[in-house]
Amino acid sequence: MKKRDFDAVVVGSGPNGLAAAITMQEAGLSVLLLECKDTIGGGLRSAELTLPGFVHDICSAIHPLAVESPFFKTLPLAAHGLRFVTPTVAAAHPFDNGTAAVLQKSIEKTACSLNGDKNAYLNLIAPLVNDWPDIALSTLGPLRLPKHPLAMARFGWNALTSAEFLARLRFQTVEARGLWAGMAAHAIQPLSKITTSAIGLVLMAMGHLNGWPVPVGGSQSIATALAAYFTSIGGKIETGVYVKNLKQLPSAHAVLLDVTPKQLLSIAGHEFSSLYKWQLQRYRYGMGVFKIDWALDGPVPFKAAECRQAGTVHLGNTLEEIASAEKITSVGIHPERPFVLLAQQSLFDTTRAPEGKHTAWAYCHVPNGSETDMTAAIENQVERFAPGFKDLILARHTMHTAQMHEYNPNYIGGDINGGKLNIRQLYTRPALRLSPYRTSAKGIYICSSSTPPGGGVHGMCGYHAARVALKDVFELQARELV
Ligand SMILES: Cc1cc2nc3c(=O)[nH]c(=O)nc-3n(C[C@H](O)[C@H](O)[C@H](O)COP(=O)(O)OP(=O)(O)OC[C@H]3O[C@@H](n4cnc5c(N)ncnc54)[C@H](O)[C@@H]3O)c2cc1C
Repeated sequence: MKKRDFDAVVVGSGPNGLAAAITMQEAGLSVLLLECKDTIGGGLRSAELTLPGFVHDICSAIHPLAVESPFFKTLPLAAHGLRFVTPTVAAAHPFDNGTAAVLQKSIEKTACSLNGDKNAYLNLIAPLVNDWPDIALSTLGPLRLPKHPLAMARFGWNALTSAEFLARLRFQTVEARGLWAGMAAHAIQPLSKITTSAIGLVLMAMGHLNGWPVPVGGSQSIATALAAYFTSIGGKIETGVYVKNLKQLPSAHAVLLDVTPKQLLSIAGHEFSSLYKWQLQRYRYGMGVFKIDWALDGPVPFKAAECRQAGTVHLGNTLEEIASAEKITSVGIHPERPFVLLAQQSLFDTTRAPEGKHTAWAYCHVPNGSETDMTAAIENQVERFAPGFKDLILARHTMHTAQMHEYNPNYIGGDINGGKLNIRQLYTRPALRLSPYRTSAKGIYICSSSTPPGGGVHGMCGYHAARVALKDVFELQARELV
């Protein structure tokens, strides 16, 4: 095999870039990981955005997928300092009447909190929780024949419906429908779209398996532990290297890019076939987000007690209200009452704020590319369910979609999922190919959340891409040995 500077170069150090780099290095290859920013992590960084002593998660905050990731589970991340705390209530969903529906570890208790929909909830979720160990790899990976077709079919039967349809089919109560809508809205799409149920079901199942944990010290701790493990097994990391062209890279048998199709075209487009370029140009990005972090003088004073024990709180009231907010946002309108995802990490992790003080993290969906300031709309939503909240604000930090994109080149127009998670792009992102991770150019791979299974901190896109790249590198080695 011809001598190269490295066996593999990975561009981008988000959870998927780190997972790809580790997978290649663990297989005995020499791997260089490059990152354009001064620190590693991508969507996994934390910083004092507001006041000294207040640690905020700049992007991801809540990590059910990280603890349930089939790949991360194999890594000695605890030995590299990673520790999670699990909030008492995974997610709470308050209503205008002061009550709240909750997702908590016990399926039985969650179901009981949904009154008349207890049995409907149990019938929907319990089989999925039982089946999860059998279908985790198929669900969090590319499209292929599942090892457990019956269990996968059971999941697909519900998953491939719209959240609105499933809610009306299965649930009667405002509580169950509202809780369900909040989960499905993580898909960042109108709830009338197929695939919104898939996201909602997976998040609910995660809540019953391991809760929705937060990493002690901030999301950055996950990236720090992954990087520490990677370097401990011989991997090399360089930060502050913005890759604009493949010519910048040292020679390698495989280049894996933790970027989205738009960047992939600009970095490596000249190497691709016309068909592949055309496919990448057709790739679609979704709604953006407006993000806000607060330093607070006390915990968020939610009316409903359950919300005061929850790591995540979904603010959007009823299914109808959330569905309407997501629908109008998808066609370019900023809702007066947006669906808000709020996290209160400092309630469970005392490293996040000075004693007696707290942090809160929130975002809402906005049209792609929007620069509208949603601060008032988001704070009004929090105040609606937690009167007195505004009086506790010591400082705030906000980011609109252009600032999100400036912060991380992968957030095109503020899209945090690396592209729409719609039916066309769920399993065939970024293009319909035998392997979505291989580009049309030999030795160049895409490993970001623009590949299956998509957004979230689980590293599975990077892991699967690296497995494909490893197969090619080993085949090349074997051919050259003959
Ligand atoms: C506000 C917000 C909230 C979120 N909340 C959650 C949550 O609670 N839980 C969860 O699981 N997920 C959450 N996510 C999503 C999650 O962060 C992403 O899905 C995940 O980080 C994607 O990982 P990735 O490795 O594909 O890309 P990224 O994490 O985006 O990493 C890409 C990396 O590549 C680098 N890069 C890009 N281009 C180049 C280049 N040309 N040269 C060199 N380096 C380059 C970038 O700087 C970046 O570091 C959230 C995201 C945001 C923004």
